This record gives sequence, C-alpha cells and structure tokens, in this order.
Amino acid sequence: MKEKIAKILDSAESIACFFHKNPDGDAVGSALAVKNFFKEKVEVYSPGIIPEVYMFLKGADGIRIYSDFDEVKRAEVFLVLDCADDKRIPHFDRNKANIVINVDHHETNTFFGDINLVEPDRASTSEIVFDILKVADVSRISPEVAECIYTGLYTDTGGFKFSNTNKRSFEIASELVDYGVNPSRVASCVYESYPFRRMRLLALSLSTLELHKDGKIASMYVTWDMFKKSGAYPEDTEDFVNYTRAIKGVEVGIFIRELFSSGVKVSLRSKSKVNVAKIASLFGGGGHFNAAGCELNCTIQEAKNLLINAVSAFL
Ligand code: 5GP
Ligand code: MN
Repeated sequence: MKEKIAKILDSAESIACFFHKNPDGDAVGSALAVKNFFKEKVEVYSPGIIPEVYMFLKGADGIRIYSDFDEVKRAEVFLVLDCADDKRIPHFDRNKANIVINVDHHETNTFFGDINLVEPDRASTSEIVFDILKVADVSRISPEVAECIYTGLYTDTGGFKFSNTNKRSFEIASELVDYGVNPSRVASCVYESYPFRRMRLLALSLSTLELHKDGKIASMYVTWDMFKKSGAYPEDTEDFVNYTRAIKGVEVGIFIRELFSSGVKVSLRSKSKVNVAKIASLFGGGGHFNAAGCELNCTIQEAKNLLINAVSAFL
C-alpha cells in the first residue's frame, strides 16, 4: 500500500494536501513534510488559521487558508492527512481530484478515500508519511522534511509523554535526528514560544477548572468573553485540555470552548482506562482512545452536564 501511494504521489503532476479544521502539529507537520519533499507540485490547504507556534516549519507561510472550496484548485491527487472523517474538512469536494488518498491514524477513521492507509496503532500520521516518503526516495528527506515529521510525532505524543509513546516513537525520533532534526529547537518553538495573549486566556480559563464525580472528572472552559478580554484566538487554546488531565486522581478531562458561530467545541482526554473516542462518537465526533473531540450545538453549561453524565457511565 505504501509503495502504491509513493508511486502515485511521485508520478502525479499536482497534489493538494488537506487536514482537519483546528489543525494541530501532526496535521500541519504531515502536510508540510509532503510539501517540502515534492515541492512545487504540492499545494497545502487549511480550512482555518494555522496556530502561530507551527509557523516555524518550512513552508507554513505558503499554506492556503480557504473559506470557500471554490478557492481550491483542481489537482490530480487530494491527499488528506490526519483526518478521521472528510466531514471535518468544510465543503470538501472530492470531485475536484482524480483520486483521494486518506492517510491517518485515528481509530474512528471512516475510510472516505479511494485509497485508505489507516494505522491506528501509530502515534502520529506524520510517521506514516515518513514511511511513504522513505519508499519514494530517501535521498530527498531533507532536514526540513524531517523536522516537519518530527514535529507531528513530538506534538501528538505530547512531547513523548502520552500513552501512545513507545519504543518505536523513540526509534523514529532517533532516525529523524540522523536526518538533521534539532530536538531542542522544535521543543522550544512548540512549547516555549506562546504569544502572551495565550497566557492571559489560560489564566481566565484556569479559574473555571472544577472537579466532578469524586475527583475522577475535571472540566474547564473558555467563553467568548474571555477571548475578548485576553485578545487571544481559538487556536491559542491548543493543549489547554491537558491541564484537566494533569490533576492527580482525574481519569477524564473535559475542555469546552465556545464557538463564534454557535455551539461549542469539546476536547476530551483520559489517562488510561476510559476510551474517550467512544464517548466523542456518541456525539458525532471521534479521535483516539486517550484524546478525542466533538462539536455540540448547545451552551457551555449544557455541554458540561451532558459530557459529565456521558463520561460517568464509562468510569
Ligand atoms: P482535540 O481535542 O485536540 O481537538 O482533538 C483530539 C483528537 O480528537 C484529535 O485526534 C482530533 O483529530 C480528534 N477530534 C477532535 N474533534 C473531533 C471531531 O469533531 N470529530 C472527529 N471525528 N474527531 C475529532
Ligand atoms: Mn494526529
């Protein structure tokens, strides 16, 4: 399968890369690895703003942010990365490509592509992309390509902290260092380069932190008013959810962000026992065993009650 995908990408005249909305380091890293490897024939499209911390990756400033699919040019291949469901790409029109290739690591992937390479046992999509690019041509894996792949692996394992971190993660990381990655540069760019407004928002959000169900569930949220007060943006809330799971005794953390349009975006994190992808699926979302999300058309308080009840049933 990887050989087949490598061949298709190598011979294609044009490739458009897509990933889910609210892009994270794995989404951006995977797509920019492909961009930096195949160069001019690749266009990367994002349905939303790229979090500022990922702008250090080569090619990040060339990502096209689109609001209407009319802005997306026809391409021979649509390569969808790190995306469990094509519904997470707003207005996605597969008819603008000859072939749709879906490369992902979410257990809830819907196999929406013409070719589907889904490996739920992998810590990141970027490491699957690494396999494909190595098959295509190892000599084209530049330090920049390697840095994009490393960033996907590094951020999806929470800096090699989450339960998806294993021997293989370190082997791949070590291989990427051989290709020229500087781990402390990536660490500093990702986790020591936050805009100050994010910290102002975090301070407001942390004041909403609460425990439920004998301390097994923690919740925290961000309202529109907090965005206004802090001057921060929705993409600045990446990783806020980790403060909920960081508390001793907490099995599941819930983070809720008020959406501008209407409704809320929910992030769920668990330590080991609870499969939050299953819980998110109950609400039309998805994700991984220990990290998942969904969107709900209700208020923050309603979402909080709904989720606390749903999670309780899994404890
Ligand atoms: P986050 O909470 O950081 O947004 O997402 C955690 C994980 O769940 C990520 O792998 C993300 O792709 C997935 N996820 C988040 N929201 C949704 C959603 O609404 N639908 C699906 N299918 N997956 C989601
Ligand atoms: Mn991922």
